[in-house]
Amino acid sequence: MNQNSEIVFYESGKMGIYIHFPYCIQKCSYCDFYSIGVGKNFFQQEEYFQTLHIEIEQRLKEFPWENFLVSSVFLGGGTPSLASFPHLHKLFKTIREYFSFTMDCEWTMEANPEDINFENLEKWKDLGINRISVGVQSFHPKVLEFLGRYHDKDKYFQVLELLSKKIISRYGIDLIYGIPNQTIEMFYEDINRALSHNLEHLSCYALTLEKGTEYSRKVYQKENPPPNEELQTYILKTLPSYLSKKGLAIYEVSNFAKLGNECKHNLQYWKMLPYLGLGVSAHGFTGNARYANPRSLQVYMKQNFGFLKQENSLYLDFLLCTFRIMKKINLQSFESFWIDIDGFESKLESWSKKEICFWDKENFQWNLDYIHLLDSYIYELADLDSKFL
Ligand code: SF4
Repeated sequence: MNQNSEIVFYESGKMGIYIHFPYCIQKCSYCDFYSIGVGKNFFQQEEYFQTLHIEIEQRLKEFPWENFLVSSVFLGGGTPSLASFPHLHKLFKTIREYFSFTMDCEWTMEANPEDINFENLEKWKDLGINRISVGVQSFHPKVLEFLGRYHDKDKYFQVLELLSKKIISRYGIDLIYGIPNQTIEMFYEDINRALSHNLEHLSCYALTLEKGTEYSRKVYQKENPPPNEELQTYILKTLPSYLSKKGLAIYEVSNFAKLGNECKHNLQYWKMLPYLGLGVSAHGFTGNARYANPRSLQVYMKQNFGFLKQENSLYLDFLLCTFRIMKKINLQSFESFWIDIDGFESKLESWSKKEICFWDKENFQWNLDYIHLLDSYIYELADLDSKFL
């Protein structure tokens, strides 16, 4: 069973704020996020930030978000490290005026390696950013080229050095595995390079084929090979114990951290806590109602924001979020999401007998040996609700 003994509880009264910044230098071929390649030169951001301010005011009129305590703010994208400082400063000022925050509120910014330098780190710190998440994906230029990723080779190799100076107190990086022509050795070389800089948080994602991306089109037209699934299964099975020996425990299927360095914001999604999503393509969740903003900058800038809709059942959402957590979960505290589903507890009981999981009628935890089969187990739980059959 996993070594991490901390127990995850549902925490009422807290919420997160997500802000989407949709611009990137270049669109990566595998990327399914709403993002637009705009090149390296100056581009106009004024109108986008104005619309974000308008959306905040509108969202506060439709739901009393201000009644929650904000425990995380996450600036994602796109490439938010391209956002202009004056605009960010004004936006954060507005957010601080409207909301109340926990003492240890986490302010994360996603960044691309090319934007990591002393000057930017100092400026982001002054804005209140206290955690930085860098989309490295790989340190191998050939792999980055395959992914269609804009990269500056020299800057890539300075990133860990700069981040480990801790101008911003917490940092993590993202890596991708299962990319054609990437070997197991290449992937573990990337891992070891990161570990040699006292890394505290690591996200490792399996490359997937996302409908509508350039990469998936090329695979279907047989111009590119598909992701290497054999390598992905091997890494999924071996990585948790490898990283655990280096002090980074798995806490979600794709996320590893030193104790206390988990990404609070993402944990809030997996714990079904409310979040206010702002910006083009952003989603929001009040605890029992959701909205999704349009995936079109033109439509969003005309102030067409997604409508808040009541959810009839959150059971499937709960399975797809909370059951990704690899720590011990106090399922009793999440009972409002699953209590009416027949067979739920007996399913957990039968798995517990086979040691697929730990379950004592209160706390639940996956056995890491079965991590590669997690999706199929989650679908088995989804089948218990006839609505999803
Ligand atoms: S930099 Fe990130 S958000 Fe932008 S296109 Fe690439 S993967 Fe997508």
